[in-house]
Amino acid sequence: MLLNNKLFDNLLNAFRTLPGVGKKTAERYALHILSSTEEEVHTFVETISQIRKQIKRCSECQDFSDTDPCAICVSTERDGDLLCIVEKPSGVMAIERSGGYRGKYYVLNGLLSPLDGIGPEELGLSRLFQKVIARKVKEIIIATSATNEGEATALYIAHQLKPLGIKITRIAHGVPMGAGLELTDDYTLRQALEGRKPLEG
Ligand SMILES: [Zn+2]
Repeated sequence: MLLNNKLFDNLLNAFRTLPGVGKKTAERYALHILSSTEEEVHTFVETISQIRKQIKRCSECQDFSDTDPCAICVSTERDGDLLCIVEKPSGVMAIERSGGYRGKYYVLNGLLSPLDGIGPEELGLSRLFQKVIARKVKEIIIATSATNEGEATALYIAHQLKPLGIKITRIAHGVPMGAGLELTDDYTLRQALEGRKPLEG
């Protein structure tokens, strides 16, 4: 019986570090691992470890990729005049899945959050601004979430880039307040991109 067993609790705690995994799910995963052969567990762990080593951040757009620069950054079929700014790699996946966008991306990997000590510098925004200028981007589509932090980040970026004469737009959020792009269906996302509105910084 493994209730209150220290080793078993360590395994539960490891699973509980994963997003969306509560006590019951962690217990199911842990018991599944213990029921597996040592070889199966080894293969599983090795797969995670190897892939974690091989997938890094693209130095151009900061999205995850197994090449640097990533396939989208080097593609000549993507419209380099358009740059879509998203909060997380899951945002790129959601927009790509929707099929409604042919430009390039930049992943912030966070949002401005002064209370948590995340300002423009921590978010690396000057690097983004340099890229925008160097690549002569014509339109920036800001697709951060419709949360307070998402809106504040969008306004800050717009405010900084407006003087450069770059068109700044914000995707129309047909999604519930605070819902991420990854929870938005393809149709709604395509509509949101198409219905993007100029953002006053
Ligand atoms: Zn890239």
